[in-house]
Amino acid sequence: MFCEMPRPSCAFLCSPALWQSGHGASHPLRPERLRRTYELLEGYNAFEKHDSLLVEPRPATIEEICLFHTAKYVEVVQRLSAGEELPDYRCYGFGPGDNPVFPHMWEIESLKVGSAITGAEMLLSGDVSTAFSFGGGLHHADPERASGFCVFNDVAVAIHYLLRQGLRVTYIDIDAHHGDGVQRAFYETDQVLTISLHESGHYLFPGTGFVDEQGAGAGEGFCVNVPLPPYTTDELYLRVFEEVVIPMVERYHPDIIVTQLGIDTHYLDPLTHLCLTTRGYGAVIAGMRGLAPLWLALGGGGYDISVVPRAWTLAYGIMSGQEFPDKLPPAYVEKYGPGTLRDHQGPELDEKTLAQVEARLGTLMSELRRAFHV
Ligand SMILES: [Zn+2]
Repeated sequence: MFCEMPRPSCAFLCSPALWQSGHGASHPLRPERLRRTYELLEGYNAFEKHDSLLVEPRPATIEEICLFHTAKYVEVVQRLSAGEELPDYRCYGFGPGDNPVFPHMWEIESLKVGSAITGAEMLLSGDVSTAFSFGGGLHHADPERASGFCVFNDVAVAIHYLLRQGLRVTYIDIDAHHGDGVQRAFYETDQVLTISLHESGHYLFPGTGFVDEQGAGAGEGFCVNVPLPPYTTDELYLRVFEEVVIPMVERYHPDIIVTQLGIDTHYLDPLTHLCLTTRGYGAVIAGMRGLAPLWLALGGGGYDISVVPRAWTLAYGIMSGQEFPDKLPPAYVEKYGPGTLRDHQGPELDEKTLAQVEARLGTLMSELRRAFHV
């Protein structure tokens, strides 16, 4: 008689090569975000449990990247990365500002894609039930264009990879920015349910992600957007997540969830206007557990360096069933100063603002319920 063994739980995909270089000193996507997250997890001995694996990812092959991107674009990225000057580089989204060309761009960005694929491979082979590729979640890139700090769309590549194995996928994107590149990639298929919760495009890049963008053709009704008003708090965010998002995922019965876990929804984030704390963020991550047998988690945005490592450490703790102490590890404190893992303060919002946000959220939820019959 077979006795069902509990699955080993979790892999954390990480390599120091991810933070060897980045978009530049004044760019918000600092490689330090990744290094500090790894250091914090190490400080908590997060990889000592037998079922919590620290895994070195491999770079993606060109063929894998071309599951979503064009061969022409891959060649452009390689040539720019090697220092070649291409007169039409701006046509591919590159240039000073959001998407500069930087040293080792090809090596780092193809490793981010490979990291998502490595995670997917481990999930498919049954090695783990959850994999967290925290350097990825680059949801804005298009097949032939860099956008919003994203060179290669590791999310879209990984989902294509999973679809090829015949899996039914739900994508949940909780970054403060609309997951536009992923939405466009799967807009016309019913094999992927894409759900993006983000600050409304009226206030934030990329300016899309409204309720009426619901998919097309066979994909009609399989694209969900939750454009949140500025100042949305933990409580209101959780209301829409629990009452609207979770029922939609359950109804779809995915084989796997792929999630983009950007933490630029945090009230201290310098680029956005949502007002979450680590409490709300953690509750959302906990809500994702168990939505499908397999879970490919990816990183994303988040631009306050004091917030990102704590939030992703909490997220990995939830994924791998570990509760880390609130006191930060001594080595981390020595390097980066004192603090706690969880927020003990939150945004200060006046009653009038809160009432307005709540009213707007109520309207949004009614709109979603009408549109998607939940
Ligand atoms: Zn973002």
